Amino acid sequence: MLDVLVVGGGPTGFLTALGLAQAGLAVRLTEAEAGINDSPRACVYHWSVLDGLEALGVRTEAERIGFTKQDYCWLVRETGEQIAYDLSVLAAHTAFPHNIHLGQDRLADIARRRLAAMDNATVSFGTKLVGLSQDEDGVTAQLDGPDGREAVRARWLVGADGASSSVRKALGLDFPGTTWNERFVATNVWHDFEAAGYALSTMVIDARHGAVIVKIDTGGLWRCTYMEDAALPETSVLDRLPAAYEALLTGDKAYRLERAAPYKMHQRCAERLRVGRVLLAGDAAHVTNPTGGFGLTTGLFDCFALYPALTAVLLDGADEALLDLYASERRRIFLERTSPQASANKRLVFHANGGGADLEAGLEGLRRMTRDPDYRLQRLMFVKSLETPALQARASA
Ligand SMILES: Cc1cc2nc3c(=O)[nH]c(=O)nc-3n(C[C@H](O)[C@H](O)[C@H](O)COP(=O)(O)OP(=O)(O)OC[C@H]3O[C@@H](n4cnc5c(N)ncnc54)[C@H](O)[C@@H]3O)c2cc1C
Repeated sequence: MLDVLVVGGGPTGFLTALGLAQAGLAVRLTEAEAGINDSPRACVYHWSVLDGLEALGVRTEAERIGFTKQDYCWLVRETGEQIAYDLSVLAAHTAFPHNIHLGQDRLADIARRRLAAMDNATVSFGTKLVGLSQDEDGVTAQLDGPDGREAVRARWLVGADGASSSVRKALGLDFPGTTWNERFVATNVWHDFEAAGYALSTMVIDARHGAVIVKIDTGGLWRCTYMEDAALPETSVLDRLPAAYEALLTGDKAYRLERAAPYKMHQRCAERLRVGRVLLAGDAAHVTNPTGGFGLTTGLFDCFALYPALTAVLLDGADEALLDLYASERRRIFLERTSPQASANKRLVFHANGGGADLEAGLEGLRRMTRDPDYRLQRLMFVKSLETPALQARASA
């Protein structure tokens, strides 16, 4: 019998499997698709997750494949005001006072390669979970793969299978919350945003043409994410793209589109993150709109809390109550921290906070960040507050 079956080969699943395998546990990761999904999604990892990536031994490689960055800018489109700040104030508080820019598929692939070199880990692509049941000793998962259906036994199962999670559905869990009326269109594009005066990471604040524009590799590829009414047909997103770019690109408007992907946006959290021997993590557990880059950040903090807790239960005889603590704490952090702040960010960037005095209040907070280092530190610490520090220590306290 496996120790842990991880369902879902996104970054949450791959890094959780890596943490468990590094502890010596027998792990299998199963992914429905033939390879790692490389659609344009997470590209910024906040400084606060770097300790966790370091503990897994992948931070250096992630920095080498992507790049590190310290400076950020909010641009008020209507007035041209630029509110810029850097992360240098963090230097006294962390060994890694920078963010990493890197496509999430590449982060997952670092873990995939590490797992491929380990005898106690297996990765099965093209193999989809289609059902599960559990008893006192373990979980039985029904997997559909290239050789047909197989029943796999594991002592524990981690559902890291994304927003439409089959694991969550098989557990009969509700996924309450809201779906926004707007659709985000994430595009990867070659265009010289820097020459056009954009910072390497810019939040364009505007009620009509709000956008998040971020350099995502050292070869000149940028992510430009904008928003449109979700009532417009999804099939004609590309027809409307030139008009959206017309409003966002300045100077030489030449561009070459690498890819574009439309996304529905939600704020939702599963009613429970643990049912017996099954645990949820990442987007399977909670989804947020991506303004501010808190979605995978929260998923990575799930991973950093979950793999040591499961390891302690499996190898050190720790009480399973540790896993209840995982479930309640990660849910609380999403509902109390991640989701409200991501929603506030979306309102500011894409709805200009409703305009007028509301916008001014939001901008005043950002301006204060630039002139008051203590306040900047306080605001930058937000992403640290999404972490659940060592559950084992808390359970034994
Ligand atoms: C435009 C955009 C930009 C974003 N930018 C950021 C950012 O900068 N920073 C940030 O922190 N977050 C960001 N996010 C959020 C981030 O992309 C998600 O939080 C992240 O993908 C979650 O990773 P995951 O591994 O939990 O799930 P996923 O990446 O969705 O992976 C789940 C995997 O499970 C597989 N799967 C599904 N069902 C089954 C099954 N039955 N059996 C087996 N496998 C299955 C899927 O094929 C998939 O590969 C962004 C999102 C969007 C849409």
